[in-house]
Amino acid sequence: MDVTVVGAGVIGLTTGVLLQEAGISTRILTDRPVAGTTSNAAGGIWYPYNAPDDPEVEGWMRDTLLELTVLADDQPDLVRRCETRQYFYESVADPYWSTMPDLFRLADPSELPAGRTHGWVFSSVIIDTPRYIEWLRQRYERAGGGIQQQEISSLDDLDGLIMNCAGLGANQIASDPSVYPIRGQVIRIANPGLQFATLDDENPAGLTYILPRFDDCILGGSSDVDDWNLESDAELTKAILRRCSEVEPRVAGAQLLDVRVGLRPGRPSIRVEREDRLDATVVHNYGHAGNGFSTSWATARHAVRLLQA
Ligand SMILES: Cc1cc2nc3c(=O)[nH]c(=O)nc-3n(C[C@H](O)[C@H](O)[C@H](O)COP(=O)(O)OP(=O)(O)OC[C@H]3O[C@@H](n4cnc5c(N)ncnc54)[C@H](O)[C@@H]3O)c2cc1C
Repeated sequence: MDVTVVGAGVIGLTTGVLLQEAGISTRILTDRPVAGTTSNAAGGIWYPYNAPDDPEVEGWMRDTLLELTVLADDQPDLVRRCETRQYFYESVADPYWSTMPDLFRLADPSELPAGRTHGWVFSSVIIDTPRYIEWLRQRYERAGGGIQQQEISSLDDLDGLIMNCAGLGANQIASDPSVYPIRGQVIRIANPGLQFATLDDENPAGLTYILPRFDDCILGGSSDVDDWNLESDAELTKAILRRCSEVEPRVAGAQLLDVRVGLRPGRPSIRVEREDRLDATVVHNYGHAGNGFSTSWATARHAVRLLQA
């Protein structure tokens, strides 16, 4: 069985690894280098970011967290277990996913920064996304897979067995107008010794989060629907630094490494679906928005099962 995987982001590479390691011969087509994908720019925390309270998505989140936690023990230089603190400005109910992490508790008032009145402390994992993507690429190639840089204008141009993991590109190649960009900008700084992650999503000044990885630390962020601009915005960089420094003063003096921008593949729901065509079988796996890493292993396994059905 020969399979063409379109896309070399976290979804395409994970799918390619699963297929190759199951003895199924594949090739990956990507219109840009692996290091230029949205996945390479991502922060990398497991967290259900605006994820719908849907049993299927819930299962994907849960299963991927388990798999990433095992990876954190096997590959501690790529993925690490990390306590996460999330802050709110008023009381909120516990989230539907509170039973997924090993630890979930209400924050003690002493753990809250000024102005926040409610908080959660939970265990999660943080992925060093560039290292992880490179590790997936090498694992895929070691298993015999090959990556070709080639742009596809439509899935109609391919035949046989196809896994469509094109992220935002699915808007064009699968003619799916419900796929849209959600622009995100983050700052990478040298890690000033932070141990826990901070999520301050409700910050009235704008989306705020701090993700300590290994040597570096990601400061976020932004979430701009239908914005295709891949250039960084200097004013936004300053605003993100200001917001993050207010929550965690230690980031203020840290060395700024670079600024990254990525377009999350937004869609009303993640599409994992098989489509049998006249001369092709396509399994779609795209539209992960802000949850690509958090659902990667489970959606890829689901897609592979659909292909084999
Ligand atoms: C700033 C930021 C922070 C984020 N933080 C997190 C986080 O903490 N946790 C989390 O889970 N998620 C996070 N995300 C979301 C996550 O990055 C995405 O959900 C994920 O990268 C989507 O992966 P993908 O493989 O579907 O898409 P991509 O990484 O975009 O890969 C798509 C692939 O398809 C290829 N392609 C597209 N069109 C064509 C074409 N026409 N021909 C050939 N190839 C094509 C591309 O070249 C690429 O190889 C973040 C995103 C951003 C931008």
